[in-house]
Parts: sequence; C-alpha cells; structure tokens
Amino acid sequence: MSMLRQDPLTGRWVIIAAGRSARPNEFPAQTRDKTPRTDCPFCPGNENETTDEVWALGRPIGQPANGPGWRMRAFPNMYPALVPTDPVAPFGRDEGSPDHLFPQAAGLGRHEVVVYSTDHQASPAALEPEQLAELLTVLRDRARDFSQHPDVRYVSAFCNHGPEAGATLGHPHMQIIGAPEVPLLAVTKTERFAKYKEDHSQCLMCDMEAAEREAGTRLIATNEHWTGYAPWASRFPWEMLFVPRRHGASLARATGEELNALAEVLAPALKSLFAFHGDPSLNIVIHSATIDSAGQDEDSSSYHWHLEVLPRLSRPAGFEVGTGYTINSAVPEDVARWLRGERG
Ligand SMILES: [Zn+2]
Ligand SMILES: [Zn+2]
Repeated sequence: MSMLRQDPLTGRWVIIAAGRSARPNEFPAQTRDKTPRTDCPFCPGNENETTDEVWALGRPIGQPANGPGWRMRAFPNMYPALVPTDPVAPFGRDEGSPDHLFPQAAGLGRHEVVVYSTDHQASPAALEPEQLAELLTVLRDRARDFSQHPDVRYVSAFCNHGPEAGATLGHPHMQIIGAPEVPLLAVTKTERFAKYKEDHSQCLMCDMEAAEREAGTRLIATNEHWTGYAPWASRFPWEMLFVPRRHGASLARATGEELNALAEVLAPALKSLFAFHGDPSLNIVIHSATIDSAGQDEDSSSYHWHLEVLPRLSRPAGFEVGTGYTINSAVPEDVARWLRGERG
C-alpha cells in the first residue's frame, strides 16, 4: 500500500510506502561506541586543540578563556567550509572560464561549532529544556552576528548527530554556517512562500500550522508558541517539524520567550524519539529567510522560519538520488501517534 504526497514548502513528492510501517520498531535501534576518549578536541581539558572560542557559558568569572569550566562553548571550525576573509590559494578565481558556463564565487563566509555538552557521550536528547534553550539562544546570537558579515546571504544552523548523519566527531555539537550564495532549497521555499501569499493573501506556513492544529492527527507536541508535528509529506521516517506560531522570518529574530518555549516541546520529543530508536543518527536543521545585502533579514512578509528533526534511519537509494522523489516507509500519522505515547 502506498500513496503520493507533496510537500507544499518544497514541491517535493514523497511516496509513503506503508507496507511495513504499522510497527514502531521497524528500524533497528542504533547504538554507539561508548568508549571514553582522551583525544577528543571537544572534551574539557583539550581546549587548546580547538580554535580560540568566541563565546562560552558557565565558566566562573576570572577563569581564563580557552580552558575548562565551561558548559557550552563556541569557536570557529578548525576546518571551515567557508572563511571570513580572503579565500585560500590555490582556489583563487578562475579567470579563464566563462561565468555563464562555469559560475563561481569566492569561498567567503563563516563556520562555527557550538559544543553543547561537556559529556562526550551525550546526545541532543540528553538535553533538558533549560540547556536546549541555552543552545538555541547561542545559535540565535551567532546567527545575528553572522548576518552582519558583508558576504553572508544565508545562515544555516544544524546538528549532525551520529555517523549516518554526517558527524565526523562523536562529541555532541552543533554547527552554524554563513554562506555567500543562497542555497537551492531556500530559493525554492522563498518562491513557494511568495506564490502562496500572492494566491491566498496568507502565509503558507501560518496556514499549514493552523491546519495541523485543526486536524490533530500529525501533532507531536504543542504549546502557546510552537506546533510540533510529523509533516504530511515527511521525507525521512520519523521526521518532525517545529513551527513558531508567531510569523517570523528567521531564527535571528526569535525572542527569548519563543526559544524557551521551543525547548519545552523539542526536548521531550527528542527523548521520545530516542526511546524508540536507541541513539539514532539525526540531523536537526533550522531554516531561515535569506539575508539581503544590507545584512538584515529580507522582508518577513512571506518566509516563516522553522526547525526540522531528520532521523537518518534509512539511506536514500538510486531512485531517490536520481529523481528527488523520496520513499518513506513510516506513515506520519503513525509516527505522531507513537511519539505522543499512544501505542496501538
Ligand atoms: Zn569529547
Ligand atoms: Zn507565517
């Protein structure tokens, strides 16, 4: 039994292939090597193995930077995808190639790491709401800082947890990248938000959020400020989407009250996900509007920021890579029910 669903935010078609998904344990629980590490650059005591920190929380007054005593810590990535100034040779501009055939841009931008726990074995699900709120707040503050960089047009905050999600270091951390060109997914979403506004005089996400509250079948966790649900056209099994109820363009514009409220719904949802799947690989991605050349968010009238939790319980195969379709064997309504604690 299968059905096609389209994601209104991206236009992506998803095949919900429900043949095997009537059980929550369809995917084997993932586990990690829990051997203590002494050579981890993100563990307390090894601060001299990272770049100089730009921010830290928890260290007593008077204790020097780049030493122990912190509970969260941010610093530029040692191996940045993009650099703040002058791109490094030999990747200088290729003057001999015509731009219309070989478009290029300098690798300018920002790339930082936020280590959110001193515990090497922790995971996003180990965070209590207060800690998660601190993490979201530092990401917001770094996003504000990144958006001031003259070359940054898009800021992405994300978590790679576990090898299947692209994590190269096991120590829990998030990353934030400010990129000089707007990525295709943000272009697509921006266009679809604008088109919906033109056609319906409303925000697409505001309408979706209201419709999900009304339907109730895909809801996972809600409060005054947030609606968390399993998206209609989830492309990953056990995918979750968290939408702020106040229309806003970006993480950088979120209030402290909103971030505290996000942590209150996100923390238990992550704990519930981990209760089913052990220590699953996952990505958390925060999607925001693009930044105009003045370093401010673009007009907030159409884009509505949001946070995705993308468990990596299965791998995309040839049909998916080759077409952009995805096949998801977990029915979103079932996933929402299980995450709400309803078995059966
Ligand atoms: Zn570590
Ligand atoms: Zn909206």
